[in-house]
Amino acid sequence: MSTDTHAPFDEKPETPRATGELIRLERVTKRFGDHTVLDNLDFSVDAGKHVTLIGPSGSGKTTILRLLMTLLKPDEGVITVDGQRLFPAPEKQVREVRKKIGMVFQQFNLFPNMTVLRNITEAPVTVLGMSKDAAEERARELLEMVGLTDHLDKHPAQLSGGQQQRVAIARALAMRPQVLLLDEVTSALDPELVAGVLDVLRDIARSTDITMLCVTHEMNFARDISDQVLMFDSGRVIEAGSPEKIFNEPEHDRTREFLSAVL
Ligand code: ADP
Repeated sequence: MSTDTHAPFDEKPETPRATGELIRLERVTKRFGDHTVLDNLDFSVDAGKHVTLIGPSGSGKTTILRLLMTLLKPDEGVITVDGQRLFPAPEKQVREVRKKIGMVFQQFNLFPNMTVLRNITEAPVTVLGMSKDAAEERARELLEMVGLTDHLDKHPAQLSGGQQQRVAIARALAMRPQVLLLDEVTSALDPELVAGVLDVLRDIARSTDITMLCVTHEMNFARDISDQVLMFDSGRVIEAGSPEKIFNEPEHDRTREFLSAVL
């Protein structure tokens, strides 16, 4: 029997999770040259919540995820994760705080020369110092969760895009992050592979207490999993609220225009 379907997932964290505010951006400004991409942005995400960023292309959504992942630095402002400064902060602290955050990218970014299993165990062994056995046991659990138990000895090139993305999700979770950042994780996939990836993410949202911050164009997915939706335009949050409010009763003209173009 193939296990290439997603299994129900009942993940219990080993360490107590934070409660209350987990991510905070205060007066964050990011410029590229003279283009201000994020303009004095304030927002926060509470632990365990699923927050989705929507808005037109170029409005700064991915930049926020990249700032949290420390792939970029703000020009101004303060970023705090679980009560600790991520920016500005000394390098050693940045490395510690960074471990609380996992990210899944649009383009999977798996290590092409490693098997699926090794893709998942590499960072827990080298960064967290887990034993190889413990990391492999955890990787097998995660592969079951994403429906890829049969594929653990394969290399990424032997998998479909949807399967690769599910490995990337397992790899991010293997680090036991408190926050999972999802950057348009289905936009590089063939249409028939999108549902399998979104189903895995729905399971994770439903059955774990991980905090999720998603950038997505999949509005039905956003409606299903989000506690809060933030509508961005030109580097600012122009409207925020429950999915019911944003999708059914948007207040802002720009939100209405955007939704009528994508729905
Ligand atoms: P979104 O995710 O909402 O589509 P992004 O955060 O990717 O928007 O990009 C916001 C703006 O910042 C865009 O105009 C984009 O061209 C610009 N931008 C993003 N990254 C860079 C970069 N590394 N150098 C220059 N401009 C960038």
